[in-house]
Amino acid sequence: MTNAILMTDINKSYMGGNVETRALLDINLEFQQDEFTAIVGSSGSGKSTLLSLLGTLDKPTSGRIEISGVDVSRLKGNRLADFRFETIGFVFQHFHLLPTLTCIENVMSPFYGRRTIVNYREKAEALLSHLGLVDKANSLPSQLSGGEQQRVAIARALVNEPKWLLADEPTGNLDSRNAEVFYELLYQLKKELGCGIIVVTHDQQLAEKATRIIEIKDGRVLQERAHSASEALC
Ligand code: ADP
Repeated sequence: MTNAILMTDINKSYMGGNVETRALLDINLEFQQDEFTAIVGSSGSGKSTLLSLLGTLDKPTSGRIEISGVDVSRLKGNRLADFRFETIGFVFQHFHLLPTLTCIENVMSPFYGRRTIVNYREKAEALLSHLGLVDKANSLPSQLSGGEQQRVAIARALVNEPKWLLADEPTGNLDSRNAEVFYELLYQLKKELGCGIIVVTHDQQLAEKATRIIEIKDGRVLQERAHSASEALC
């Protein structure tokens, strides 16, 4: 099985009434699992659309996406949900934590309703401890700061040991100190877990930590550049 994502001839349009918005046009990209990629571009350029296709949260209008050797356009229903569960961790900008669940329950929630022999409480506890949140395990998300909520969202994304960690504007709701802590955390996780990391960001500082920067403009790849290991975090 390859450890890559291949996007071939991807187009994505949205229909609103009779108006078609072409969000992505003729995208051809390859991502390797040992990379830390930042996708940058101005608002409305298509970054979130690209990330939601990579996360199998949406489907392209045309083109093919292969993730870790699987053609995801052929997957539907439970098979798609299983693939996503096994392969992808997604961190949303507004965290999307379930407000009535405690932190540890939020982290365990991807396993709810699944038959599994994994001791996921133990895994969730280990992750919360690793992310410095052990004393918040039984708190509700509303009792946590923005940075803490984000770490819970990261723990939830990682509890199933995904091959890919995708994050949409991960520092968009953080102050500069928490954003710096977040950079360090991504760096550590990349080293320890070996998952590919792809972030969408407006934050130039975060983008500079990546090993590769892809700039999107008007739904197309405008430019790509690689960072040397000494410039990037990993
Ligand atoms: P970015 O993340 O770079 O801000 P998006 O991917 O959110 O850009 O949006 C790209 C384009 O697609 C924009 O013109 C946006 O208005 C449009 N768009 C995004 N999502 C939808 C949707 N669900 N329905 C209609 N248009 C959408």
